[in-house]
Amino acid sequence: MYLVKISLLLLTAATLTGGPFAYGQESSATISLAEFRKAPQRKLIQIPDINGYKVLKADFHMHTVFSDGFVWPSIRIQEAWQEGLDVMAITEHIEFTPNSGILNTDPDRLYESIANTVQSKNLILIKGAEITRKTPPGHFNALFVGELAGYERDQSNAMDAIAIKRAHDQKSFIFWDHPGWQDAAIPGSYEWTHFVDSLAKARVLGGIEVANAQSNGLYKKAIDWALDHDLAIMANSDLHNVSGYDFNFDLPYVHRPMTLVLAKEKSENSVREALEAGRTIAWASKYLIGKEEYLRQLFNACVSVSPSLHSTSYTNKSTGITTVTDYYEIANNSDLYFELKLKSGDGSGSVILHPRSAQTIAARNGIQLLEYEVISTFVRSDQHLKVDIHLKKGNK
Ligand SMILES: [Zn+2]
Ligand SMILES: [Zn+2]
Repeated sequence: MYLVKISLLLLTAATLTGGPFAYGQESSATISLAEFRKAPQRKLIQIPDINGYKVLKADFHMHTVFSDGFVWPSIRIQEAWQEGLDVMAITEHIEFTPNSGILNTDPDRLYESIANTVQSKNLILIKGAEITRKTPPGHFNALFVGELAGYERDQSNAMDAIAIKRAHDQKSFIFWDHPGWQDAAIPGSYEWTHFVDSLAKARVLGGIEVANAQSNGLYKKAIDWALDHDLAIMANSDLHNVSGYDFNFDLPYVHRPMTLVLAKEKSENSVREALEAGRTIAWASKYLIGKEEYLRQLFNACVSVSPSLHSTSYTNKSTGITTVTDYYEIANNSDLYFELKLKSGDGSGSVILHPRSAQTIAARNGIQLLEYEVISTFVRSDQHLKVDIHLKKGNK
């Protein structure tokens, strides 16, 4: 009885201090070094709902030791949770598994082994794979795949169509990875080829990465291809290494590239519906890339301007002309970054809205409209989102 009580007490203590596997408990013979440990916590990335849609933060491209990545799959889950993702896909190279001599790299096994962990972390895990063809045409990711055994492993170009067909037959969502990654090394590889065109026309291709962290690329041509061929615009990490090794999280605002998915609800089916409808925005470094309507809705949901707060007047002594200036507060209620440049109207020339912060802007008294370009966005390769800032008079 006494022993049972003791073990119950220990279990309670262990649970309170972080579970039965918590280390560093003090006794007369040990001193806890727990101060060296980091309290696990999930970052919450704040982006308001837009037009009734939830904005899910997704990374649809990453690797583990099951292909050519450096980490075990459970590390990917920890990173995704810690960095505030809602949705993740591990997408191992089908045709390239350098660890298969020392490890059973069967990707179907990988997914079975981590399914429970992902759900307990409130993450949506989408089963995927990277169909790794020679460049051109390059690599394609397939999401919502079925069994991965039996996918084509012969990398010769003659088998490209067959390799993609397998994923299409499984009703997968297929997107083109890092389209410009070999632009300098392989002339002609960063083009809208006949092969890709045929996939897009047959609606086999559903999306395209306009940014990919592993190849350090933001692919401007891909923005126009996505818009012209009605493809979902995506940004993904393509992580191979530990996330904290690749990204400088010591700097403020650094985040892994991600695809913002405008979903009806936080569910796998809703993610799929949004991808197929092309309701996505790519977020890479300070850039937001997407269809104009979604970027406009996003900007309007995140940024607000107060009525005028104060006025000052200045008289030029030589001309005798008096200028009255009104001041306003412009606020960004999200973790996104917006950089605005004035296009027309007599007001502040440039405005930088850091995450969850506000700025003061000024405009000549009587001005009701300032037109800005949001130069941290792309709605085409050569166009930024244009926004109208309507100015209202305050009580003062
Ligand atoms: Zn790739
Ligand atoms: Zn990859």
